[in-house]
Amino acid sequence: MNITSASSKILLEELLTNCKKNLPATDEKLIEKAFDFALIAHQNDTRASNEPYFTHPFSVANILATEIPFDSVSVACGLLHDIVEDNSEYPLETIQKNFGVDIGLIVDGLTKIKYLFKGTEINQSENYRKLLMSVTKDIRVIIVKFADRLHNMRTIEFLNPDKRKRIAKETLEIYAPLANRFGLGKLKWELEDLAFKELNKQAYEDIKKKINIKRGEREKYIDRFSAPIVKALNEYGFKFEISGRAKHLYSVYRKMIKRNKPFEEIYDLFAIRIILDSTDRNTCYTTWGIVNGIYIPLPDRLKDYIAIPKANNYQSIHTTVVGPEGKLVEVQVRTRQMHEIAEQGVAAHWKYKEGKTHVAQSMNQYVNWIRDIIENSADDDMRKNIIDNFKLNLYSDEIYVFTPKGDLKRLPLNSTPVDFAFDIHSKVGHHCIGAKVNQKIVPLDTILNSGDQIEIITSKNQHPNKNWLKFVRTSKAKSEVRRWINKEEDILVNNGKEIWEKKLKKMKLVFTSQEVNKLSLNLKYDNLRQFYSSIAKGKLNLDEVLTAPTEKEKKAKDPVTEFENFAKIARTSGGDLVVNGEDFKMMFNYSKCCNPIPGDHVVGYISTGEGIKIHRKNCKTLLHISEREPEKIVMVEWPKIEGSSFIVGLILKGEDSPGLLNEISHSIVSFQNTNIKSISIDTRDSTFEGSVTLYVHDLEHLFRVMERLKKIKGIYSVQRMDMSV
Ligand code: MN
Repeated sequence: MNITSASSKILLEELLTNCKKNLPATDEKLIEKAFDFALIAHQNDTRASNEPYFTHPFSVANILATEIPFDSVSVACGLLHDIVEDNSEYPLETIQKNFGVDIGLIVDGLTKIKYLFKGTEINQSENYRKLLMSVTKDIRVIIVKFADRLHNMRTIEFLNPDKRKRIAKETLEIYAPLANRFGLGKLKWELEDLAFKELNKQAYEDIKKKINIKRGEREKYIDRFSAPIVKALNEYGFKFEISGRAKHLYSVYRKMIKRNKPFEEIYDLFAIRIILDSTDRNTCYTTWGIVNGIYIPLPDRLKDYIAIPKANNYQSIHTTVVGPEGKLVEVQVRTRQMHEIAEQGVAAHWKYKEGKTHVAQSMNQYVNWIRDIIENSADDDMRKNIIDNFKLNLYSDEIYVFTPKGDLKRLPLNSTPVDFAFDIHSKVGHHCIGAKVNQKIVPLDTILNSGDQIEIITSKNQHPNKNWLKFVRTSKAKSEVRRWINKEEDILVNNGKEIWEKKLKKMKLVFTSQEVNKLSLNLKYDNLRQFYSSIAKGKLNLDEVLTAPTEKEKKAKDPVTEFENFAKIARTSGGDLVVNGEDFKMMFNYSKCCNPIPGDHVVGYISTGEGIKIHRKNCKTLLHISEREPEKIVMVEWPKIEGSSFIVGLILKGEDSPGLLNEISHSIVSFQNTNIKSISIDTRDSTFEGSVTLYVHDLEHLFRVMERLKKIKGIYSVQRMDMSV
């Protein structure tokens, strides 16, 4: 079945006429373009009713042009709303390319909502309403969704029974309350009655029949009641409309259930509504006075929602009076503007604001209007409620995610699987080792999005760690992780303290608590806890800490001996020197002026009686000698042994810190497997001086090791052990 071009022309004309009648401004080009686009996109699709699919988006657009009139963009989105989900030929990008970013975003939101609800059992409707709001960045997503839902409910009879039940339940629990929150009174009533008919057909038909039977009787009574009021209002010269208020079946049903009373008692409550064609709210009060002059009011049944509007901006005066035959009649008095806002909410709101041609502006005004209500509302609880309900839409600082069973959890923006795990139960949080988001394994620091379904993987051996604090968002997760870390640290501190005390006993040392404090500060710990836990972790070598001062004293007495010991070992470790390229068995002597050691560039001076004296090439004393007796200078080299190395000594100075020794040795050893012969570090107060002897292949090797050591944090200087300086 197809739509002919002739009939499509008529449909487009109908839609445009409705737009021009009801919208503040009609963008004909946009609506025509969306109309043609949707017509082609849906040309091969049919609805469950066997009608061409296009009749659905067309009807949705028409609702948006007549019943919830907002703007041209909403009407266009009504036409386009099912294209992306129904036909993979048209990805979102195509919509965006043809209609721009705004419309693209709205269509995307509508598509997301559709998938959000697919296959999930509804169990927390309030949360679902919030979830819906959180994926809704543009208020028009909800407006179009309302129209879509309304048309689907009006044509629900073509679907299978299961689907009908699900959609009706969703409508009653989610869309009708949400419509009420948006102030869309008329939409709310219709959605409720349509859903009621699906969910409880028996009760629906029963109430409908009874209302019809009583209709004539009712209308007569209302006329009798209204006649004196009509007369008085005419005398005042007011323009108005008076009617017996249409009773909605679902509200009658709900009252019957709530009050546990039969239909007759509920329905005998008469109600009329007076709508004044005036912009002056004082005419409402005058009218109210006129009614009270004719019938006696019940003093405790007056509600002035004009002075104090309801949270959804509903305005009206409600009063209950005693009518003919002593029957109670509720009278509602409002202006036309108040009435339209009560029926159409957001959609009607722009009509009564200045600068009504600009949608963005009217949206802003809507937002401001909500803020006004919030700020001017005296009741704190009510205020909080309104903020809670609207802030998701306005500020989006929360996300809504699901458990594998479909339960909904509310979390702050940027929450991670760890936050989710702690939200479920502390135990789950403590042992969470991994997570699946939408069936895919993800890292624990993954940021969750609204609508995600999360499954936590736990392991008995897993525990919280410090890193988690870098990414958890909820205060519950934060405090639980902190508490665990502190508990773990307590154990370490106690163990460390025990080790420390045992060690003192063994070494027969006594430390006052003041001295322990001082020692831990000297070793650069912030506090004793850190000091003890460092001992427990094996990061602090107690032998070193407790013996260092005595060694230092020894060495400090005679630094020359230390060098001479070193030089002796170094000079003999590689074998004999090579003179003029030959092994030359002869007595060597190392000059005291420059103290050459293996690795230095050296020359020999043939002395009288003392054999060959070895000097560094750049020795100043040698310079004088070689000028006077150049013939006595011979070329000397340190012996070259394959794979062997020579020993050098280094002096390190710097600031002391725990773990420094380890860092120094690691830095040396990790470079080309350099071997260390000995290493010692002495600390005094917060500074240290250390010496290292190590094997190097050549000078370049040595220099590179020295460069590495200089890069260690806290080391000021690295020098070769060299007595010539
Ligand atoms: Mn649809």
